[in-house]
Amino acid sequence: STIVADYRARTPASAALFDRARTLFPSGITHDTRNLDPYPLYVQRAQGSRKWCVDGHEYVDYFGGHGALLLGHGHPAMVEAVQRQAALGTHLGASHELEVRWAELVTQLVPCAEKVRFTSSGTEASHMVLRLARAFTGKLKIVRFMGHFHGWHDQVVAGAVSHYDGGVPVGVLPSIVDLSIVMPTDDVAPTVQLLEERDDIAAVILEPSGASWGQVPLPPGFIQALREVTARRGVLLIFDEVITGFRWSSGGAQGALGITPDLCILAKIVAGGLPGGAVAGRRDIMDLLDFAATRASKREKVGHQGTYNANPLSAAAAVAALQIVASSDACARASATTARLRDAMRQVLVEEGVPWGVYGDASSFHIFANPNGVPVDPATFDPHKLGFRGLKGARDNALVGKIRMALMTEGVDVMPSPGGLVSAVHDGADIDRTAEGLRRALRALKA
Ligand code: PLP
Repeated sequence: STIVADYRARTPASAALFDRARTLFPSGITHDTRNLDPYPLYVQRAQGSRKWCVDGHEYVDYFGGHGALLLGHGHPAMVEAVQRQAALGTHLGASHELEVRWAELVTQLVPCAEKVRFTSSGTEASHMVLRLARAFTGKLKIVRFMGHFHGWHDQVVAGAVSHYDGGVPVGVLPSIVDLSIVMPTDDVAPTVQLLEERDDIAAVILEPSGASWGQVPLPPGFIQALREVTARRGVLLIFDEVITGFRWSSGGAQGALGITPDLCILAKIVAGGLPGGAVAGRRDIMDLLDFAATRASKREKVGHQGTYNANPLSAAAAVAALQIVASSDACARASATTARLRDAMRQVLVEEGVPWGVYGDASSFHIFANPNGVPVDPATFDPHKLGFRGLKGARDNALVGKIRMALMTEGVDVMPSPGGLVSAVHDGADIDRTAEGLRRALRALKA
């Protein structure tokens, strides 16, 4: 198609790098999400809301470091903090002051966070939080939700990134998959009933935004109903705030919703754009990780290791980022910009007569590209009417690839939902460029 031909014509240096990469990496990539046919874009540098590919073209960036960069690329406070720490030591093999300051900021900002442990990624935090929930309750089963992503370890992938109709993803231990129960989200009633009936459930974990940071929003009252039944039944409620933490509000989705989980996991923004994650929550649960507390309670301590836990470089970036989140309107600014961006994109769909939808919460947006051609009026599009199957189950990878390439040709890089996570430094010029880019991309897709 001309979209692929235009992409190829603009990006010969990316093509050349991919020729080397594909002999080295399976599919030529290091993260499944970066897969793009015929080849991914290679990015050389980034600043603020923009990034530049190896062929020198400029893009409005909506990847935002997979959501880690609420303050945009290369924020001076972060650059300074990381440079200073790199000179002092990248790994001290010891406790250090910045980890204390980092945890003070997390407990100050996040409502459920009475105590914290740092990890190296969201996946590790997810692994740890489930271990902690099982240890605390003495129960084995975990309730999860269709399409909700909690990282790539064995306990959470079935029904989250694949196998929506059941079954065990290849290479994953079937005995582990059997320990989680994947529930639908179109209605909370079946989950409430399950929690009423069973006594073997340790925890319920969910993305409080709905699957994939809100690509499949939850019905009103869903989380409140879970909070009520889990509290009554002695089941732990865990929010996966890896994306929503410090983004939905400075206190995450729990701050925005006014609903406090027992535990939460954090990553991305929590580490200021460097690798890192955290488990945070109720003191009595977190104290299962504590030597003295478990000696006193005569309970077995939960183990936790990790070479890069609270590493000084991540801690330096994290403290710089969270101090800004705590003392400025960064979250609110990013959300306000994104509301204007969603309106501008919606307006383009209306003007171009394209039956798609644009939606999202806080500083996120999703484009519903209507793979099955259901009747949609972009001016009144309501994702709640489509449910999981209509919004996520219907994903058309070839169509999404074309949309992404058409937008890249117009200088806009969106995530493959397709959608994006917006920073506090995106501005009116980014919105205008994105809206015009979308208009030209839609015309190219029609041609
Ligand atoms: N949970 C959610 C909601 C995520 O979006 C992600 C990553 O995108 C993870 C967990 C896993 O985090 P990480 O990629 O740091 O392992």
